[in-house]
Amino acid sequence: MTKQHTEAVYAIDACSRPAMGVIVYVWYYTYMHFIESPVEVQRWFQASARQMWPIAEGSLSLRKSKCIRKTCSACASGEGHTSYVLSGHTGSRRFSIYVPDELAPQIQQAIDNGRHLQELMNEAGVRLVQALKNRRNEQNRE
Ligand SMILES: [Zn+2]
Repeated sequence: MTKQHTEAVYAIDACSRPAMGVIVYVWYYTYMHFIESPVEVQRWFQASARQMWPIAEGSLSLRKSKCIRKTCSACASGEGHTSYVLSGHTGSRRFSIYVPDELAPQIQQAIDNGRHLQELMNEAGVRLVQALKNRRNEQNRE
């Protein structure tokens, strides 16, 4: 996520809930973000993550299968039927779940959002370490 995106998120926040604290925070983030505190990193992450729905992790693929009908020309010819499946892991277990065609775009969006959330978590880690280091340095100076 770019800095512009993050600022846009706060701008939306400021419009919907015009609390003074949020507006001050937008200013602070825009001009003073290079000295973020851990709490500010937390607020940035939570505000960004709040926008992300639907969420899914895994992959969406087309799978060929046979149907339950006794006489089916598609199955008889070996062509079969294609349907979407979402597959992934829950812990160490692999799962695979049928997804109706009309829901596939929504699930693909959820997977894309999931990747975006992962990137956000990576960025959060880097910024949290920096914020904790800054705080430690400030405490050492006192
Ligand atoms: Zn069939």
